Amino acid sequence: MYKPTIGLEIHVQLSTKSKIFCGCSTEFAQEPNTQVCPVCIGLPGVLPVLNEKVVEYGTKLAVALNMTINKYSNFYRKNYFYPDLPKGYQITQYSIPLGSEGFLEIHGNIGNQKVRILRGHIEEDSGKSMHSGDITESEFSFIDFNRSGIPLMEIVTYPDMETPDQAYEFLVLLRSIVRYLGVSSGDMEKGAMRCDVNVSVSKDNTMGTKVEIKNLNSFKSVKKALEYEIARQIEVLEKGERIVQETRHFDEHDGTTKPMRTKEELNDYRYFPEPDIPPLSISDEYVASIKREIPELPHKKEERLISEFGISKDYSRSISYSQKLAEYFEDVVSFAGHPKEVSNFLMVNVVAFMNDKGVEIDEVNFDKHKFKELLDLIDQKVISGNIAKEVIDESLVSGKSPKQIVEEKGLTQITDEDAIKNAVLEAINENPTPLNQYLGGKKQVYGFFVGVVMKKTKNKANPDLLNKILMEELNKLSS
Ligand SMILES: [Zn+2]
Repeated sequence: MYKPTIGLEIHVQLSTKSKIFCGCSTEFAQEPNTQVCPVCIGLPGVLPVLNEKVVEYGTKLAVALNMTINKYSNFYRKNYFYPDLPKGYQITQYSIPLGSEGFLEIHGNIGNQKVRILRGHIEEDSGKSMHSGDITESEFSFIDFNRSGIPLMEIVTYPDMETPDQAYEFLVLLRSIVRYLGVSSGDMEKGAMRCDVNVSVSKDNTMGTKVEIKNLNSFKSVKKALEYEIARQIEVLEKGERIVQETRHFDEHDGTTKPMRTKEELNDYRYFPEPDIPPLSISDEYVASIKREIPELPHKKEERLISEFGISKDYSRSISYSQKLAEYFEDVVSFAGHPKEVSNFLMVNVVAFMNDKGVEIDEVNFDKHKFKELLDLIDQKVISGNIAKEVIDESLVSGKSPKQIVEEKGLTQITDEDAIKNAVLEAINENPTPLNQYLGGKKQVYGFFVGVVMKKTKNKANPDLLNKILMEELNKLSS
């Protein structure tokens, strides 16, 4: 058996208003090179000044990921040549990062798993190159420096994951956490979260050879690239060949990974201390004040909603990972009770509506008052759970209140025993074959009759009465 080993390096764009070392705006999708200054395009003689907000956001994220905040951390110049890096170096943290040695507990299908985090450091982003074909037919490359100097937090995990699903789960949880903290949009498609993965496979406790995969632009790509790469490495080893240590890139179109360039050795970058930025000093009081600002995080909320309200694991995860949805859920439940029913209607009806219309929960016209009205109608046995689904769907579209919909459409439950009995007798008389099957011992045909009666009563028969009367009539025939 081969065992895959997976580690992640994630760049999270911190959503400060201005860049890390200058006052330029960080707004996304602006005209190229309109948000630049001598500092962020690296003209000689300029002095970068560290943005306090970047330290705050970075510290918040590091604390949320259970890292130790280093009292002193320092900045380095990471030297390399690339057209989108006019200074010839990137200012980053190196020997002592902002945060060290944390962990995140992911809740996968195979149970909880702790993924250790090696470090989290703050750094500047580079510019963005656009090559001919992207924007014009001619043979030119263009560089947009708007992104140059945007603050990033790089998070490096230990290689503690063994499956593509775990890597996926880690990223989804991390995205939810940065959103809860308000330190990043976490939008991978907008480049606000970028991920490189390291993966190797090994057998019999030997060390595998690590391959790095870059250019993963979505959570799905991370999973697919890992699945492909693990299979590829196993195939190479099975043929008795060796894995080459290299950087590969993921091709979205054919779902494969392809060699990019041989891995640079770390010392190629010739890191040296950044003389213009003093070491970053962080006090215990500062860390304590940041800790107080950290809200209940999604994976903790997920556990609490299960233990406090007994709602299902899947629903709890979906609700907890979206801060807005979680706030809505808890607001409705504290007002109207019935957490299980609320989680059901929320996930089955409301979220389906949101996905269909492409809207967020705060744009949905179904507030806690309407929710309570709906739940009261069920409690008072005016409508059944099935009809309630119809009512909520209708209310989401029209904005009418549940009561109004029930009255207008005549959806009130049938509790008249004679009416239900008539429908039951009709169902039995019109279906001799299923009846004989039932009487012959095939008890699962019972559900068929329930369906027929429900159809005849347009889903309005009171389910308890229906069951009672149907059972009575079938028993009469059996004896
Ligand atoms: Zn600038």
